[in-house]
Amino acid sequence: VKEIGKPERAVVTTCAYCGVGCTFRAEMRGEQLVRMVPWKDGKANRGHSCVKGRFAWGYAQHQERILSPMIRESIDQPWREVSWEEALTYAAGQINRIRETYGRNALGGITSSRCTNEETFLVQKLIRAGFGTNNVDTCARVCHSPTGYGLKTTFGTSAGTQDFDSVEDSDVILVIGANPTDGHPVFASRMKRRLRQGARLIVIDPRRTDLVRSPHIAADYHLPLRPGTNVAILTAIAHVIVTESLANEAFIRERCDWDEYQHWAEFVSAERNSPEFLAPVIGVDPEAIRGAARLYATGGNGAIYYGLGVTEHSQGSSTVMAIANLAMATGNIGRRGVGVNPLRGQNNVQGACDMGSFPHELSGYRHVSDKATRDLFEAEWGVKIDPEPGLRIPNMLDAATDGQFKAIYIQGEDILQSDPDTKHVAAGLAAMECVIVHDLFLNETANYAHVFLPGSTFLEKNGTFTNAERRIQPVRKVMEPLNGYEDWQVTQELARAIGLDWNYTHPSEIMDEIARLTPTFTGVNYKRLDAEGSLQWPVNDKAPDGSPIMHIEGFVRGKGKFVVTDYVPTDERTGPRFPLLLTTGRILSQYNVGAQTRRTANVVWHEEDLLEIHPTDAENRGLKSGDWVKLASRSGETTLRALVTDRVAPGVVYTTFHHPATQANVVTTDYSDWATNCPEYKVTAVQITPSNGP
Ligand code: SF4
Repeated sequence: VKEIGKPERAVVTTCAYCGVGCTFRAEMRGEQLVRMVPWKDGKANRGHSCVKGRFAWGYAQHQERILSPMIRESIDQPWREVSWEEALTYAAGQINRIRETYGRNALGGITSSRCTNEETFLVQKLIRAGFGTNNVDTCARVCHSPTGYGLKTTFGTSAGTQDFDSVEDSDVILVIGANPTDGHPVFASRMKRRLRQGARLIVIDPRRTDLVRSPHIAADYHLPLRPGTNVAILTAIAHVIVTESLANEAFIRERCDWDEYQHWAEFVSAERNSPEFLAPVIGVDPEAIRGAARLYATGGNGAIYYGLGVTEHSQGSSTVMAIANLAMATGNIGRRGVGVNPLRGQNNVQGACDMGSFPHELSGYRHVSDKATRDLFEAEWGVKIDPEPGLRIPNMLDAATDGQFKAIYIQGEDILQSDPDTKHVAAGLAAMECVIVHDLFLNETANYAHVFLPGSTFLEKNGTFTNAERRIQPVRKVMEPLNGYEDWQVTQELARAIGLDWNYTHPSEIMDEIARLTPTFTGVNYKRLDAEGSLQWPVNDKAPDGSPIMHIEGFVRGKGKFVVTDYVPTDERTGPRFPLLLTTGRILSQYNVGAQTRRTANVVWHEEDLLEIHPTDAENRGLKSGDWVKLASRSGETTLRALVTDRVAPGVVYTTFHHPATQANVVTTDYSDWATNCPEYKVTAVQITPSNGP
C-alpha cells in the first residue's frame, strides 16, 4: 500500500474470468483501480483468488479499447467513428430494412457468457421481442450446451447439483475431462484440501493433469483413456456397478423411473459393455476400470466433477447423461458430498444459459413451444413469441451462406476465433448484410462487421453473474464506463432505435422482470443480494433461502431418468497421414483466446501455446523440447513449439488455444455433438513434423 498509495475507496464486486466466481474488493484512487483484494466474505472464494482475478485486470484500461462507435457500409471500407446516435440509428435502420425485406427470421443474435445476467436477458429479449425471432444463441453452444441437454433430460434442470462447500463431505472424488488446477484454481484448492484429508481420487483424462502428478495427492486411479472414448469408459464402469450388484436399488426404486433403470441396467450388463471387451477401444487396463467403479460405488459419498473434456465431443450430451446415470445408480445425488458438477468455464456461462439464451428455451429452461410460458412472456412484453425454436450459431452461419440469414447482433463473443471451422464462420459472416459487434476490442469477428458498438468491462457496470454452483452474485460499478454506457444501456438504446419502448433506469429493474418471468428466480432481487451477498437458485416459495444442493427430495423432473448411452466412435479417425490424436485445454495464467489476459502489462501472460508430445512420438520424429513443429490435420495447419513430456500418452498430443498466432481452431474438425452441435474440439487426428518456425 505504501508503494502504490493508499486507496481512497473500495467496491466489492465479482471476478469476470472463470465460473468459480470469486469476489474482490476493488480498491480505487480517484478513477484509477489500484488493486484487487480477494474478499474474505466471498462465499465462493472465502478470501482466496488466482492470478487472473487478482492481477489480470489491466485490459480494462488498455489502449486498444475502442471507445467510440464506428460504422461502415461494407467490410472493405475503413471504419468511420460516429456518434452513438448515428451508430444506433444506422444499426436500427439496417435491422428494420432487413426484417421488412427478408422477414424476421433473417435476423438473429448471440449473447455473451462474459456479460451480466441482466445484459444477457436484454439481448435475448431484444431478439425475441424486437427482431421477432427465436434466432438467439450463446457461446455456451461451444462449451457446455451438452450439460444443458444432458442434465435437463436426466434430472430436469440444466445445472450442477451441489455448492462448492459440498466437496468437504466427499469421500470419493471422480474428475473426468477437467483440469481444475488450471481451469478453476480456487475451487481446485478446496478439492485438494479435501483430498489431503483422505478423500479418494479417480481421474479420467487422457493427460496426467496436475491432480495426477501432485506429490501431495495420491490419485487412486488415473484412467488415461483414448480421446473420444468417454462414453465407452463410463459404460464399462456402469457395467461393473450393475453386474457386481453395487447399485443402490433402494434409491433407484424411490427416486428414479424403475422401468427405465431396468432397461439401462440390461444394456450396460451386456458382455460387449464390459471393461475387458471395451479395453482395446478405451486404451485402459480393465482391472483399473473395475477398481475405479468399485471405489466410486462403495467408497462413501461420491462426487463427480467434469469439464469441457466431457462436453466438447460428438457424444458430449451422451457423456453427460452417462455421468448422471452413474450418480443415480449409486444414489450419489441429493445430499452434501455427492452430485454431478459441471465446472463451468466462463464467469457467467451458467447465467447466460439461465437467461434464455438458447433458441429453444426462454429463461429458466422453459421450451418456447410451451404455451403457458409463452403466455407469461407475451403478457409482460406485449408481443407474440414464436412457438418454434430458432437457429443455433452454426445454423445461422449455414443460413447466411445460403442467402437466408442477413443480420446478426453479437455481444461479447469473438466467434471467428472461438468457434470451430474458421473458414465456415468467415463465409457466414461475409455473406450477411449487417453484422453488429458489441465488444471491448476490435476482435477478429469485427473484421466482418458493419457496426461496432463499444462495450464496457465488468468494472464499469452493475449487474449480476451466476457461478458454477448457481450462485447469483452482485457485479458493482467500480468506475464510470470509459465509453459512456454500460452494455445493458447500449442494448436498450438499440431496442429503442428499432421502435421498442424500453425504459429501464437500473439493472435492478431488469432483475425484477427476470424474477417475475422465471420460477427459479422469484425470490431474487437486488435488496436481498446486497444484504445476503449472494443467492443460489432456485430461490422461490419452495426454497426461500435458495438451494445450495438440488434434487434433495425429488428430481426437478419428478423421477430421475436413466438414458441408454451407447458408445458411438467419432467420425474423426487416425490413419497413416494423421496418426496422432490432438486434444486441447487451458493454462492457469491465460484465459480462452486471451483477449483480456494478453492485454495486461505483466509479462507472465505472454507465454506461448506449446504442443505436448510424448517422448516416444518425439523421438520418432527427431524432436526435442523447444523445436518448432508443424501441426497439421485434415482441416488445416499451424506452427508452434514442442514440449516433450510424459504428461501425454504415446499417440496423444495436447495444446492450449490462448494465442491468435497459434489459432489451434484452424486444425479442429467440424464434427459436433449429436444433440446440441457443441463442436468436437477435443479429438482431432493430426500429424506432427519438424518446422523452421512460422
Ligand atoms: Fe477469477 Fe476464477 Fe481465478 Fe477466482 S478462480 S480469481 S473467479 S479466474
